[in-house]
Amino acid sequence: MHPEPSQLEELFRLLSKLTELRGISGRETEVREFIIEQLEPVSDSIRIDPLGNVIAQKKGSSNAKLMIAAHMDEIGLMVRHITEEGFIYFSPIGGWNEAILPALRVRVRSFRGAWVPGVIGVRPPHLLSPEERDKPVKMDKLFIDIGASSREEVEEMGIRKGSPIVLDSSLTRLAGTRVAGKALDDRSGLAAALKAFIDADPGEVSLVFAATSQEEVGLKGATVSSYSVNPDLALAVDVTAANDVPGVDEQDAVAKVGMGPTIKIVDGQSGRGIIVSEEIIDKLVEVAKNSNIPHQVEVLPRGTTDATAIQLSREGIPAGVISIPTRYLHSPVELLDLKDLYYTVELLKAFYSQLEPGWLEGLKKRIR
Ligand SMILES: [Zn+2]
Repeated sequence: MHPEPSQLEELFRLLSKLTELRGISGRETEVREFIIEQLEPVSDSIRIDPLGNVIAQKKGSSNAKLMIAAHMDEIGLMVRHITEEGFIYFSPIGGWNEAILPALRVRVRSFRGAWVPGVIGVRPPHLLSPEERDKPVKMDKLFIDIGASSREEVEEMGIRKGSPIVLDSSLTRLAGTRVAGKALDDRSGLAAALKAFIDADPGEVSLVFAATSQEEVGLKGATVSSYSVNPDLALAVDVTAANDVPGVDEQDAVAKVGMGPTIKIVDGQSGRGIIVSEEIIDKLVEVAKNSNIPHQVEVLPRGTTDATAIQLSREGIPAGVISIPTRYLHSPVELLDLKDLYYTVELLKAFYSQLEPGWLEGLKKRIR
């Protein structure tokens, strides 16, 4: 099973559109509206819950239910303070490596809806002492310059305390089938889950797609959406850290770009994320193998996904994760291979189409 160039082109267009949308945690409206638009023609039902999750269903003929979840939010910043001279200090929303922030291009949302361009200020080397040159500037000392000369000017542009700020970077095609840009975490997972849901042909098992909010700030949307959906099994679709780059030893790579989606075994520090049941791992691997879908298995020492919250919902909900190997996470140049995205869609579709209601409904009882 190999992707046609036209299929990769279609995925590139969907991913471009999704990464262009701006939605930091808790401010996902742009993404939500696009997702609803895509889901409306193909869903039996769609609802939006109080946390802003979009939950769509294709109804099957039995009571068995599979949920696939991918998060809409991206990491960002929020306006914390505007100086008299018109510089903007900010607070982080989600996990940042502050060393990458100086000299980045950003967009600040005006309450009138426009996204105002700005840059994060950086001190020129001429003004740095030898000690200063060696260490990154702390995030709370960094500021955004939108070109304004006074606080009044910034405020007149519709920017105020709490205005959301996103990275300003568009999806770029690199060599072969690789792309780089912002928010591939998790718009790539969102693209894969959305495409799989749109293409899926419901048989006996109902398919629920949850586009979740506020993952980057504590898996919040997944916590409440899995409670209301109460599926027999949930699969989170997210990125994982591909560290297959120079300077990282083979054993620390986690996953390799271009080798297929990864099936998660464990994540979080010392297993404090999710430890996926062996039955779910085996089933995913079995489907990947019998459908000739390239895949990897994943042991991730830090970071986690929506599946961790889903697993702890209600009396416990069986959950697994399919990840897209991605380099340079939480930066404006996250990098992945469109083929991995394609095979993620294929794995989701194959898994859903091969599900038997009896197996699915027995999961909650068999798992120890
Ligand atoms: Zn993510």
